[in-house]
Amino acid sequence: MRNEQRTRRPQKPKPTPPTGPATPGQAQLNERATSLWRRGQAWFYADDLLAPVAAAELVRVVDAEGRACGLGMTSPQSKLALRACGAWAEGVLPCREAFFHTRLAAAIDRRVGRLGTQDGARLVHGEADDLPGLVVDRYGPVLVIQVTASFVEASLDAIVPFLAERMGAETVIARTDVAIRKLEGLPQEVRLLHGARKEQVEIDEDGLLHLVEPFTGHKTGFYLDQRPARALVRELAKGRVVLDLFSYQGAFSLSALKGGAASATAVDQSERALELAQIGAQRNGLLGLAVERANVFDYLRGLRDGDRRFDLIVLDPPAFAKSRRELDGALRGYRDLNRQALRLLAPHGWLVTCSCSHHMTPPMFEDMARQAAAGLPFKIALHQRVGAGADHPVWLSMPESEYLKTLVLRRID
Ligand code: SAH
Repeated sequence: MRNEQRTRRPQKPKPTPPTGPATPGQAQLNERATSLWRRGQAWFYADDLLAPVAAAELVRVVDAEGRACGLGMTSPQSKLALRACGAWAEGVLPCREAFFHTRLAAAIDRRVGRLGTQDGARLVHGEADDLPGLVVDRYGPVLVIQVTASFVEASLDAIVPFLAERMGAETVIARTDVAIRKLEGLPQEVRLLHGARKEQVEIDEDGLLHLVEPFTGHKTGFYLDQRPARALVRELAKGRVVLDLFSYQGAFSLSALKGGAASATAVDQSERALELAQIGAQRNGLLGLAVERANVFDYLRGLRDGDRRFDLIVLDPPAFAKSRRELDGALRGYRDLNRQALRLLAPHGWLVTCSCSHHMTPPMFEDMARQAAAGLPFKIALHQRVGAGADHPVWLSMPESEYLKTLVLRRID
């Protein structure tokens, strides 16, 4: 399962232990951290601050000279002692309600009009919405919240009623079963926060219905971030024989069939995911779906010496590099998989290849694709680069927030 991971600038800061006493409601940056703040740094360690952090609270952040910089939230239990929360009226420290309601309303307003009539959308995307430690996804009448900061956790009583009312939600769920919460001293759990329990909800994405299981599905229930890639697959699929590797519940396969694919084969190791894919095909009245429960690596090995070829392959594995240390091994893994997939392309075939590893930058991923294509008996063109949709904005000074990379490659004959 994909993780929203936590990384920061590569060089370790020089440890300069905090000196003065903690001031409630305020955090003061040291000189070095002041210049990082100005360059858009989002996260700060205890040794970036001139005094220790007292509590999990909203604070005014001041620079090394004592001038106001904006707002932050502190976490005494975490290595991330301070997270930036954007600008506010100079010198003013708002109450929790004013802060969250203003930021949540702004995040929602920014998306209105850009997302059309989509039932499924990310409403809040953490740092990029000046709401670090908070993700909110909407699946029609269901909202799913993911919290990874203790101040946000302690403020759910201010967040949930506001969101529920504003979005007219019937159900609000906390999917706080992510491992990263351990670093914050928070328990991992899934719980109903508001309204009636709903195990399943159907969302309409451009006329295609997807079944979402918000309590148990991956991430917050569905891969909302792949919407632009799904739209592209649908566009390319007409008349094509499609192979959907690491399919999960077959969202790409269904999109391809909706776009007129001749057939789509969804391959995943999860039985439940493939069951949902079949239910999805029935529900949408789509013919031509085949599901294969298999380890993709074995499955590809099985195809290697045969004649089967595909006009369109989607390759969307889970994150191979969960840390920077794992990057070399992950790059080899991606390269081998991509090479095998490219070999299975029919003439003029397409490969839509994805990586959701935070640690793999877009140039690294492209380089991997270049290596995968080297030595093949045909050339490969890079047609398009796709990322997560506009509802998953990238924080420019936090390059790893551009975690989802998708390349659209075509075999040239
Ligand atoms: N393409 C999907 C998301 C894929 S998530 C979508 O757009 O919705 C990754 C999927 O890979 C998960 O469903 C997981 O069950 C599956 N998976 C992970 N390792 C696997 C392996 N070695 N073989 C087959 N499936 C695997």
